[in-house]
Amino acid sequence: MSKTLFYLLMLALALGTPGCARKDALDDIEHSGKLRVVSRNSPTTYYLDKNGPAGFEYELAQRLARELKVELKIEPAFSLQEIFDRLTRHEAHIAAAGLTRTESRAALYPHTLAYDTLVTQVVYRAGKFRPRQVEELLGMRIVTLANSSHAQVLQELQQSALPELEWEELSEGDTMELLERVDSGEAELALIDSSEFEVQQSLYPRLKVAFDLTEEQDMVWYLPPGPEYSGLLERINTFIAQLKATGELARLRELHFGHTEGFSRISSHTFTRKMRSALPRYEALIKRVAKEYQLDWQLLAAIAYQESHWNPRAQSPTGVRGMMMLTLPTARELGVDNRLDAEQSLRGGARYYKNMKRRLPPDIKEPDRTWMALAAYNIGMGHLEDARILTERDGSDPHLWSEVMQRLPLLQKSAHYKTTRYGYARGREAVTYVQNIRHYYNILQWQDISQQQALPPVEASDHLPARLGEVSLKAL
Ligand code: GLU
Repeated sequence: MSKTLFYLLMLALALGTPGCARKDALDDIEHSGKLRVVSRNSPTTYYLDKNGPAGFEYELAQRLARELKVELKIEPAFSLQEIFDRLTRHEAHIAAAGLTRTESRAALYPHTLAYDTLVTQVVYRAGKFRPRQVEELLGMRIVTLANSSHAQVLQELQQSALPELEWEELSEGDTMELLERVDSGEAELALIDSSEFEVQQSLYPRLKVAFDLTEEQDMVWYLPPGPEYSGLLERINTFIAQLKATGELARLRELHFGHTEGFSRISSHTFTRKMRSALPRYEALIKRVAKEYQLDWQLLAAIAYQESHWNPRAQSPTGVRGMMMLTLPTARELGVDNRLDAEQSLRGGARYYKNMKRRLPPDIKEPDRTWMALAAYNIGMGHLEDARILTERDGSDPHLWSEVMQRLPLLQKSAHYKTTRYGYARGREAVTYVQNIRHYYNILQWQDISQQQALPPVEASDHLPARLGEVSLKAL
């Protein structure tokens, strides 16, 4: 081969081989109109709720896409390895998945400024041996995720101080699977990010933090390797700095990690008190709207109580508002222009509920139809369908609420939600939501009946109407 030909060939290779001369990432995003993000399907990162995609990472990425005036294309990966593989193959512009900054990752992939911090925690089951320092980890059955920052911490410990340290790494799966192993006794300890444990603990009330294994660590986004990403990196860092300066980041963090699941477990006592103090003001209105939509007024009243405690000015940090706590997009869809107007809100909620009920398959009969419509109202029709499919897979009847309510919480467990179409969802909250409403609904019906019949005071348990008997909050 002549020398000239050889150089020409080399030049052609350098210019023409995919992967060698890539476009600047910001240009690519602008020209394609898409910001491609790889994430994980988990409650702290990205999942679908009744209004569509949600999660801390999703919201951050969504804000960045909006700023870049492009569409967000977010895709979940099913292991940490896969996230980094996708970056290496330049299949995503950013990995946004609750990833910790580590030296070895930073050596391979550019990363952003920290947008959060966390510590790695050792989690154990209450009542079992609780280690309080690293030396006590020796001889214990520890699980962690393969390729996680936690596995790296263990490797470092093994190399520096504890050569006999042993642990098991799960290559597929996620934090929830780790927690499940400790809960079931299959493992004694798991290593978890503090931010994840905060959110998951309510699902595993027996699990507790033994001790913090690390100092504060940074949570960052990683980008694919290569100089063509430096412009994008700079842009993201400015974006993060702005979110911090405006307080928006702190607000988002609070929204996603600051909540507790118990908010809807309001005692019957508070309910009956409110029934006397707040309900009379809205009773006529609720009755009127219920009639218009051919609903039981007590059911509409029970939903409104569960949503807002009959407070037409209620609002939550997630941006839902009013008597029926509608989101802005739902309100728009329902033709509600003032969410704080009790009548509009009630009508919007009633319409939304009826809509859910209409969409359910016709072979679901009452009263299950009502409970399932309420679940869909809370969690979205897609997730309810997923829970019904899980029910069917178990050989149980997907037309029965008593069966479906047992499967809804499984949507929070990776072994199950991975096999479903719509993925992770707060299924347990949906069950609590429905059961609370049933409880309130029954109290309201009971009080109506008792008022009409002017019964003398009696022991409630002896004189419950048939429907009250079937409700058991213990089933939660
Ligand atoms: N923060 C962990 C990491 O960067 C991932 C979280 C987890 O799945 O436990 O490896």
